[in-house]
Amino acid sequence: MKVVIIGGVAGGATAAARIRRLDEQAEIIVFERSGFISYANCGLPYYIGGTIEDEKDLTLQTPDSFWKRFRVKMVVHHEVISIHPESKSVTVKNLETGTVFTERYDKLLLSPGAKPIKPNLDGVDSDKIFTLRTVEDTLKIKNYTNAHQPESAVVVGGGFIGIEVAENLRNLGINVTLVEAAEQLMNPFDGDMASFIHAEMRKNGINLMLNTMVEGFSETDHGIDVKIKNASAIHTDMVVMAIGVLPETTLAKEAGLELGIKGSIVVNDRMETSAPDIYAVGDAVQVKHFVTGQDPLLSLAGPANKQGRIAADNICGGDSRYPGSQGSSVIKVFDMTIATTGVNEKTAKQAGIDCDKVYLSPMSHAGYYPGGKVMTLKVVFEKGTYRLLGAQIVGYEGVDKRIDVLAAAIHAGMRATQLKNLDLAYAPPYSSAKDPVNIAGFMIDNIANGTMKQWYLEDVDHLPRDESAILLDVRTPDEYAGGHMEGFGNIPLDDLRDRL
Ligand code: FAD
Repeated sequence: MKVVIIGGVAGGATAAARIRRLDEQAEIIVFERSGFISYANCGLPYYIGGTIEDEKDLTLQTPDSFWKRFRVKMVVHHEVISIHPESKSVTVKNLETGTVFTERYDKLLLSPGAKPIKPNLDGVDSDKIFTLRTVEDTLKIKNYTNAHQPESAVVVGGGFIGIEVAENLRNLGINVTLVEAAEQLMNPFDGDMASFIHAEMRKNGINLMLNTMVEGFSETDHGIDVKIKNASAIHTDMVVMAIGVLPETTLAKEAGLELGIKGSIVVNDRMETSAPDIYAVGDAVQVKHFVTGQDPLLSLAGPANKQGRIAADNICGGDSRYPGSQGSSVIKVFDMTIATTGVNEKTAKQAGIDCDKVYLSPMSHAGYYPGGKVMTLKVVFEKGTYRLLGAQIVGYEGVDKRIDVLAAAIHAGMRATQLKNLDLAYAPPYSSAKDPVNIAGFMIDNIANGTMKQWYLEDVDHLPRDESAILLDVRTPDEYAGGHMEGFGNIPLDDLRDRL
């Protein structure tokens, strides 16, 4: 069997290694357009900021090491320029020599990833404007910051990459402005949870401009002007565009494969495309959302790697199925960790799910053991069935662990009320005897059995303002003095029973 793979990074390299493990005889050729294979995309921003110091640490494998270990031919600087499903072949261009040749396959796997969106704006092709996807992109940014020692930078886009780039440029001492068209950063979070992220960014010196639209760029003698809609331009030394990615599917389109949203490749749960013997994985494919059953694009490394493994199993005659993605993610925002899994409230509602939520702010570990930090969780569940739909967490310690427990619970189809029963590990340095995830379960169980009724910020205008209700704020007097809702009296929690 001869297997050709397009793209030698997350999905492609995983599949190549797995195929070799399953089939010692297969001929496996991977064509990779860039000069690197199996590199750590997720580490690229940290090389810019200097946390990862050695460029070599970004590349986990080389074509030589891959050949030595797996007998897989990794061919870099080679771009596949067309696919011919009828003749089961691809046309390949050697980007160094310009030579074009044909390669036949028995099975073809596409893992071409995604490309950064570069909008059609005036001046967008300036060489002071960067995007970040590959090692080459990273080196370009790094070389620019080394050579020009920029004092200021504008990052356009407040998603995962925009935030990581902003933080890393800031760590180099650069004054960073982050411009985001939406009213919040990090779309996977609801606005209420995103406000913690905004605060952390501002605390660390990022000039955050939300609800702000970039309209174009113009180079000046000493930098570049970023033109802003209905406001004055921002003068800066460099710009990084991070407004999202689009699936890299020109080849698939030209080959007549069925395409889905934003031109992504449609695959079934065996990662098979609409053409026989052609598989596709990673950022280029449309996935089934594990919670909503809808078909979103979720560009994350975990799904790409798992799909690569599944495609490899099926290429080798097995029957592995991809159950869907739930968008679990975690990212560092300066000292804070923010993480999410499943759907947020906004997405659940858009998907027509009648949902409810709890908020809680427990300590990361026992309060009496030094170093504990408050984290804030928002857990979203379906009304009536108590199906667990999603969770968002912001905090400073232990966030990653709690989101993974919640991600596993969603995957296992647990009801939100069952979180109270999870037998989670505890010792004071790590958690509390009632883990934050358990506490979320207690709260949701209280709602389910009628012990607790909740109202939310969005209900404030509709709360009874007559004698039928007492509106109480039970925080400390200092907290109350720092800001409170109109019409609410203050009796601190510890005084409440004395004053009943
Ligand atoms: P890729 O890993 O991008 O590989 C695709 C490869 O295909 C590319 O190298 C490309 O050059 C090559 N290619 C494309 N077309 C052709 C062609 N015609 N011929 C030959 N080669 C071709 N995800 C997380 O889960 N956590 C993170 O922390 C995280 N951080 C990230 C940080 C950055 C800066 C970036 C860019 C991404 C990050 N991601 C993260 C996303 C993650 O890297 C991707 O989801 C994952 O790499 C997708 O895998 P893939 O195989 O689909 O595509």
